[in-house]
Amino acid sequence: MIDSHSHTYYSKHATGSVDELARASIAAGVNILTITDHAPFPVDADNRLLASELDRYFDDIEEARMAYEGQITILRGLEFDYMPGTESFTRDLLARYPLDFAIGSVHYVEVPGEPTVKVWELPRLAAEAFLDRYFANLEGLVACGLFDAVGHADTLLRSLPEDVFLRRFEPLLAPLVRSGMAFELNASGLRKSSLAPLTGQEVQGLWSYPSQGLVPSLIALDVPFTIGSDTHAPKDAGAGVAELMSVLRPLGLGRISYYRGRRRVEVDMETLLPEVKSTTLGQGAPRP
Ligand SMILES: [Zn+2]
Ligand SMILES: [Zn+2]
Repeated sequence: MIDSHSHTYYSKHATGSVDELARASIAAGVNILTITDHAPFPVDADNRLLASELDRYFDDIEEARMAYEGQITILRGLEFDYMPGTESFTRDLLARYPLDFAIGSVHYVEVPGEPTVKVWELPRLAAEAFLDRYFANLEGLVACGLFDAVGHADTLLRSLPEDVFLRRFEPLLAPLVRSGMAFELNASGLRKSSLAPLTGQEVQGLWSYPSQGLVPSLIALDVPFTIGSDTHAPKDAGAGVAELMSVLRPLGLGRISYYRGRRRVEVDMETLLPEVKSTTLGQGAPRP
């Protein structure tokens, strides 16, 4: 199993050390783990690594890599925020710390005349002004050429009807293909609440993201996919990765990529998780 998106206590709103995450991931059956704590970013210091912690963070990863060699491959990653104008800040960080994998994600969106929207503020995600900015930022993220994969681009499905999302994402397909970037299949949607379409109530257990409407278009365009639990605690190591593959495989998903030294390695899903082929397809996973 590959898990290319995971957090430790270095992200501040997550728990568990690198060592604890490594051990929990081995227990969960993960073979290739990329640790991707939130990179330093000017917007706040409470939800991410501080620049002063980066050396210790990478030392911890190196220590775990050596300690568990033969049991699990541990790779050096960061999840970067993207907002227009932050490219040089991120470029400097990338130049200083060689990574295996760089995820670019949009978590914060500046909407004129409003407090900055956070993508977990579900009631605010359907507003046209927000959507205009969110998708403009995604376009900037894809165009800036700094990242290997776009992280949880479809997280808005916690709040947004899929047809609206697909219509908004459509213009991004060509730039995404040109960029060569991977699209991340993020399993945290399986654990997160969403707004029920009819009542607008926040509920658990509904499939929100990844977008089952978008995946076939991305496959047709040969866009590579990465996959990750986005765990924020050792108990969620590898969570949802097998379920996602089970549900998305019938849509045509056949290959998953991960990154080593910023180079993409593609893995055939047949060799990845043989049990996906069994009759347990989709069982236990939230259905749309
Ligand atoms: Zn994220
Ligand atoms: Zn994350």
